[in-house]
Amino acid sequence: MQPFQLTHKTALVTGGASGIGRAIAETFAKNGARVVILDFNETQAKEVVEAFKAEGLELQYRICDVSKAEEVQQIIDDIASQNKIDILVNNAGVAHVGNIENTTEADLDRIYSINIKGVYNCAKAVIKHMKGNNGVIINMASIASSVGISDRFAYSMSKGAVLTMTYSIAKDYVDQGIRCNSISPARVHTPFVDGFIAKNYPDNQEEMFEKLSKTQPLGRMGKPVEIAHLALYLASDEASFITGTDFPIDGGFIKLNG
Ligand code: NAD
Repeated sequence: MQPFQLTHKTALVTGGASGIGRAIAETFAKNGARVVILDFNETQAKEVVEAFKAEGLELQYRICDVSKAEEVQQIIDDIASQNKIDILVNNAGVAHVGNIENTTEADLDRIYSINIKGVYNCAKAVIKHMKGNNGVIINMASIASSVGISDRFAYSMSKGAVLTMTYSIAKDYVDQGIRCNSISPARVHTPFVDGFIAKNYPDNQEEMFEKLSKTQPLGRMGKPVEIAHLALYLASDEASFITGTDFPIDGGFIKLNG
């Protein structure tokens, strides 16, 4: 049998309508999973599911704002009433540029509600359905979780919390058969990065793209599918001995930028 198959498994991918989440949803579906995208962007989610359909891949989506606890709980309970949930990828996330002085309380609340509470809401809602069922939770952290990145005060704080939530969940549910790990990418070329460059460097976008690519020793940004392949491994039974661990996937950023 081919390794890394997710046949008969149901996977929820938050933020699956774009970038890394989209690549994870596609990769999981190609390897046999029944995938449900949870995203609050209905237009994009619809488009992505239609595009997959044209490739012969059947995925579903549910419109869901991960920052809203009740909504998340209802949707996840509803999905669980139809299929056992095997995998949750907590990928939805948003960025904010600024140091502590130019981060307002409103900025902090927005980042907190999606990047931290979103992970909390989805993991909490899914755990009761995963107990004793070999569930897998994968949280999308960032290199900003563990190294200093300038002008990303709120984002880094939130991604640090994603890392520590990963360790807490892994520890608390290891006896119930739930594995929880995180992935920490450096820059990956997605709409998230394009939007950031367009907004902050409207007059020299190409130059900025090159500059940001070169901060990673491999000399380029990551591709969403490269993150998706790591997520596939962590979600699969082949990774059954791995829990409570963070996986940097960073083109050498953390260890080689000395
Ligand atoms: P993206 O902007 O391309 O996609 C994010 C998706 O999340 C979108 O579809 C958006 O609609 C959805 N989303 C946002 N807020 C939501 C909410 N409240 N409820 C439901 N859906 C919501 O981003 P991306 O680059 O693919 O990033 C995905 C994840 O990877 C994020 O958590 C991000 O912090 C992390 N990450 C990205 C990079 C990078 O360089 N792209 C690096 C490190 C970590």
